[in-house]
Amino acid sequence: MFAKDWGHNAVAQPSHHEVIAEFIPTSADIDSPWAWDTITDDSKLPKNSIVAARWIRKPEQRKPQQKVAHAIFAFTDRHIANRAIREGMVISQKLVSVRREEKDPQRCMKCQQYGHIAKECKAATDICGRCDQTHPTQTCTASPEAFYCAVCKTKGHTAADRACPTLLRRIRE
Ligand SMILES: [Zn+2]
Ligand SMILES: [Zn+2]
Ligand SMILES: [Zn+2]
Repeated sequence: MFAKDWGHNAVAQPSHHEVIAEFIPTSADIDSPWAWDTITDDSKLPKNSIVAARWIRKPEQRKPQQKVAHAIFAFTDRHIANRAIREGMVISQKLVSVRREEKDPQRCMKCQQYGHIAKECKAATDICGRCDQTHPTQTCTASPEAFYCAVCKTKGHTAADRACPTLLRRIRE
């Protein structure tokens, strides 16, 4: 199905104009073209202007009590994307705010910290981006239960996770 395929390769589609819609009820259907019709109707956006949508964090990665989540929507046209940013979108009866999808800030692949790249890194050892050990991330064999973010210094997600709270905060800044 188109919406599912998109999850893996849509980032490479330069003609799409992506935005992040924030705090969408997790009960909302955003996966099907039928759902997109409802969203464009309710949001007073042109029909068929959404070409793809996906939750930033997959539903199965959510905590059970999580009521809202962020999602990326891709529009056919920059002006429509801008209108969604200006006026918000109505998803599942809720007016949600929409912002531009920014490029991720630079993260060092050696020590996992933001603000410099591996070539400029002063760390003595490799810090893993998946677990709490010191080894290159590529050699990591940790299971998902052992995932640890060296940026946030917390368990439960990797340093490369798009939903990493530190990454989301840096994008917002
Ligand atoms: Zn570094
Ligand atoms: Zn590791
Ligand atoms: Zn993190």
